[in-house]
Amino acid sequence: MEKQIFDVVIIGGGPAGLNAALVLGRARKNVMVIDEGRPRNIVTQESHGFLTRDGISPGEFRRIAKEEISAYPSVSFVVDRAVSIAETNGEFQISTRQGLIFQSKKLLFTIGMTDRPLSIPGLKEVYGKSAFVCPYCDGWELRDEPLVIINKGPEVMHFAPLISGWTDHFTICTNGPDQLTDAQREELKQHQVPIFESPIQSIDSNDGMVRQIILEDGTVIPCKGIFFKPELVTGSDLPRKIGCQMTEEGMVVVDDFGKTNIPGVYSAGDVTSRLHQVIAAASRGAFVAAAINNELNEEDWRRRGL
Ligand SMILES: Cc1cc2nc3c(=O)[nH]c(=O)nc-3n(C[C@H](O)[C@H](O)[C@H](O)COP(=O)(O)OP(=O)(O)OC[C@H]3O[C@@H](n4cnc5c(N)ncnc54)[C@H](O)[C@@H]3O)c2cc1C
Repeated sequence: MEKQIFDVVIIGGGPAGLNAALVLGRARKNVMVIDEGRPRNIVTQESHGFLTRDGISPGEFRRIAKEEISAYPSVSFVVDRAVSIAETNGEFQISTRQGLIFQSKKLLFTIGMTDRPLSIPGLKEVYGKSAFVCPYCDGWELRDEPLVIINKGPEVMHFAPLISGWTDHFTICTNGPDQLTDAQREELKQHQVPIFESPIQSIDSNDGMVRQIILEDGTVIPCKGIFFKPELVTGSDLPRKIGCQMTEEGMVVVDDFGKTNIPGVYSAGDVTSRLHQVIAAASRGAFVAAAINNELNEEDWRRRGL
């Protein structure tokens, strides 16, 4: 039996990969989406800021997306992890953990970013329920509440004015040396923002809702919510392994059209951008899908004209 060569294999079925699949399906391309199903926002119950879908659960968002895409029969899905890629004569062979092999003309990485394990005791229990990473995503629900920002260094001076748009009652825990200048400390003092350097001993919570933060020096800070900056790594090391140029932070380097430095390989979503939002990832997925489709159509046009 002749092996099917997909026009595009999409690795990663979050908002970026799913919107790319929708656009490519509507453009009558044969697409395989390989997705392990571990999106960045898996820990949250509600996702905000996507017009017509404000407050939807990430699982329901995916369900609706897949239902809509199922109207386009040239798009297929497999729940699996892509583990290796080989390139021969400009075509890609993608192998999965379960031993499946797919061939494609183009490759799209929409693999997202992943949090490194959280080292603060008690943070895992509240992550996505009352501890968040982005005030645009979850600030409204915590408006006017007493909050704690866990961060250090110059980023604190970005985060403090930002959070002040949602609440005036917030404390900064730097969980070790604050790495601030005297002028920065003075600025926070003038705004009456308390700042604690003592390491965090634990986060005390009930059913995912934070109650207080306990520091090693014995200080107890009651609060209703936390914003912190997790350490991120790329969702998969496959782009690096096939030679894609990466940033120091583990993001895939792309041009305006989502092209990487490897011909035929594209990327979109969180792994290519500092703006981590569902609508931004979906938007880039759609845009890059159009760029891939153009390339496929032009190649086919030239071949048929020979
Ligand atoms: C706690 C939290 C709350 C958030 N809340 C919001 C919110 O309210 N509103 C908002 O707009 N944004 C929110 N975000 C951000 C949002 O989750 C991301 O911006 C968005 O998910 C990025 O989409 P993506 O498609 O780029 O990647 P992801 O959604 O992370 O999807 C990537 C997919 O690729 C898969 N994958 C990776 N490698 C492989 C591989 N080798 N093989 C197969 N599959 C693979 C992963 O399993 C995953 O399913 C939140 C993030 C966090 C952490």
